[in-house]
Amino acid sequence: MFSLNDLKKTCCEVFPIIVPDKSSLKSVNFFLVKQDHSLSLIDAGWNNEECWEGLNNTLRKNGFTLKDLTEIILTHHHIDHIGLVDRVTSENPIPVYTHPDSILRLKRDNNFLEMRVEFYSQLYKEMGCGVNGEHHVSYLKQALQQNKQNAIQADLTEIVDNQLLHYTTIKVPGHSPDQIAFYDEKQSWLFAGDLLIEHISSNALVEPDLLGRRIHTLSQHIDSLKKCLALNVKLVFPGHGAVIQDPNSLILKRLERMEAKADRFIQLIESGLTTASELAISYYKNTYYEQFSLVMSEVIGHLDYLEIQSRLKKELVQGIWHYSVIDKRIML
Ligand SMILES: [Zn+2]
Repeated sequence: MFSLNDLKKTCCEVFPIIVPDKSSLKSVNFFLVKQDHSLSLIDAGWNNEECWEGLNNTLRKNGFTLKDLTEIILTHHHIDHIGLVDRVTSENPIPVYTHPDSILRLKRDNNFLEMRVEFYSQLYKEMGCGVNGEHHVSYLKQALQQNKQNAIQADLTEIVDNQLLHYTTIKVPGHSPDQIAFYDEKQSWLFAGDLLIEHISSNALVEPDLLGRRIHTLSQHIDSLKKCLALNVKLVFPGHGAVIQDPNSLILKRLERMEAKADRFIQLIESGLTTASELAISYYKNTYYEQFSLVMSEVIGHLDYLEIQSRLKKELVQGIWHYSVIDKRIML
């Protein structure tokens, strides 16, 4: 049986910082990795005292201080992965490496974020969400103002090569457009952000690209999981929950579940539902109201995926997309 102590018996050492979280995520994880001439921090948790103490205790227990850190490497821009970046770099001004597409998001570029709110406003209208969409958009507008002070102050360095330290960097978008995994080929380990989580399925969140076009996030997420499958890694270090010891069987389970969900949406459309919001209400019931943006991401992601596979077509009627199943028998 693998234990976290085994991580110390190899040429590079991993010291996981696992901070319990009351949500369904169970924990927020980030990682100290010691290699020959570096001590890297992969991700940076929440900006809170628990994560700060977690980092400092892990450093101290292993004979390090904040000053020994040589860089921060980010898997993606989400707030529970970047929290301590400014606090660490204000004490020790080390480079912060991130995907080029993270930068506008981390710096909270106002033009980009306003475009993003407009993207959701249009999207929810076209998906037939009505007032529920409008409520969510007004929440997004408020958050845009309130979160201005959360912009990262540290200088950010774009990861442009597919090599960083002794990792191969692998683009694994889907959960977020800028998600990168760090592959340690020698150990057959992958630091994968939120690509794969053992106890819950990771969401492919619908997002615009930098030009405001909808990214087919579920299709990307599926491709990223298949990329990970092909690597055949022994361990995945995830952003939440336990270290994943049999990643391939978990990936296969996740892929199967997504296909089953896609089939279920086909059935619902065949039964007479035509809009994304009708599908969301029928499939998710109250969760549609409680976790509106997550649910809509799931439904829109699956509809896009099915459309790419030529299993669905859509028609804009009075500003709302209506989906129908493509009858393969007619095509033959
Ligand atoms: Zn995330």
